[in-house]
Amino acid sequence: MISSFDTLKKILRRIPGIGYRSAERIALFFLLEGKEYAQELLKSLSHALESIKICSLCGNLSEAELCFLCSDPSRDASTLCIVETIPDLHAIERTGNFRGKYQILNGKLSPIRGIFPKNLPLEHLKKRLDQEDIQEIILALGNDIESEATCQYILKEILQPLGKNTTRIGFGLPSGGGIAMADTDTLHTAILSRRKL
Ligand SMILES: [Zn+2]
Repeated sequence: MISSFDTLKKILRRIPGIGYRSAERIALFFLLEGKEYAQELLKSLSHALESIKICSLCGNLSEAELCFLCSDPSRDASTLCIVETIPDLHAIERTGNFRGKYQILNGKLSPIRGIFPKNLPLEHLKKRLDQEDIQEIILALGNDIESEATCQYILKEILQPLGKNTTRIGFGLPSGGGIAMADTDTLHTAILSRRKL
């Protein structure tokens, strides 16, 4: 029979970035010195799980129907930045030099992993392009093969037929790494030096 200590370690190891040793250290901390902290963590986690949902417009985390970015009237609604993941959005926000709006794809095309165009919110994107006055679309996807294929698909199937002005960031980003992996300065430069497609 697996002890509850082992179960706890096993669950902790599923957290990204936590290896076997860290899982054991954290489990011991919770059980020995950090009992009160563990209760606080439980409470805050359960509150976050209940109150945080997905923004119905861009796909970001939000406590309301629209996230703080979508509902901010000072953001430039004529520029839409398309990113793969929520951490990518936050990485771009940290650079402080993008003031437009976002669309999160929640993935990228990958036939091997069974992710096809129908699995990405592309119909939603088309609807946004139809309903909002978007002048420039920035494809802020990584520079691995799947991200590149996703950019090409969106460009050819959606943006070019609509005659949308599209740019692509990517210069100087680490090869094969996602946007969220890049340091802020590199990402800042990559956004400024985006090229027209
Ligand atoms: Zn949003």
